[in-house]
Amino acid sequence: MSNREALLRALREQALDIRRNTWRALHAAGSGHMGGSLSAADLLAALYFHHLNLRPEEPDWPERDRFVLSKGHANTALGAVLAQAGFVDDGFIDTFYAYESRFGMHPDIKVPGVEMCTGALGHGLSVGLGMALGSRLQGKDWRTVVMLGDGELQEGSNWEAAMAAAHLAPLRLTAILDYNKVQQSGHVAEMLGLEPLADKWRAFGWSVRECDGHDMEAIVDALDALPAAPDKPSLLIAHTVKGKGASFAEDTYLWHNNLVGDEVYEKAIAELGEPA
Ligand SMILES: [Mg+2]
Repeated sequence: MSNREALLRALREQALDIRRNTWRALHAAGSGHMGGSLSAADLLAALYFHHLNLRPEEPDWPERDRFVLSKGHANTALGAVLAQAGFVDDGFIDTFYAYESRFGMHPDIKVPGVEMCTGALGHGLSVGLGMALGSRLQGKDWRTVVMLGDGELQEGSNWEAAMAAAHLAPLRLTAILDYNKVQQSGHVAEMLGLEPLADKWRAFGWSVRECDGHDMEAIVDALDALPAAPDKPSLLIAHTVKGKGASFAEDTYLWHNNLVGDEVYEKAIAELGEPA
């Protein structure tokens, strides 16, 4: 097996573990947001175990890349990947939404590795832009990556940040859109459509690339090709499926968030198959 094949295989296993640990956290709490956590799992695996330059044993390392999960309701997937990468203990996953736990419904900077409290949607790209400016002003090399949700893009603040980022470029700033086409109350196209989305971002001065957000090879290829243009911020539109990996939860707003009892948990875990 080549090094690249071994990398892709390892990343696919990490993504499956993010999904398993997402369900584990949700089961511990009895409920939470699964749809947008499961759609983002492959992207998070590629970011944390391939793309981002991080030191889990030194989470505040000044030269680290910055990652902001702007779609903060996907915090179970973030908690899972932080545990898998070693920022927090494995037992952290079982504390999801427990009394006085740092692992809440949305990311909290009290958790090692979390850069921003998010979940009030539409703020992550502006703060990420500030982080990218900070890198440039300090003459540093670290990069900033912001993960956006599609429903979130209905917030006007994203477009202000997009406009400002293009104006202030060059910046080491990448936005990744987890484009699962579903938001809390329905399909995005029916609630408030975004298309033609790539054209809109290009018109705002961004370099845009699209990929299948569940095809690990395509994700790694896209991340390795960053920045897509030296003088523009980059957007990766990752086409995903909400609730990916759980047949009953895919492509429906009903599993944006929901209850997770024993029956749901066991069904979801069984569908993911045996760990490698
Ligand atoms: Mg969505």
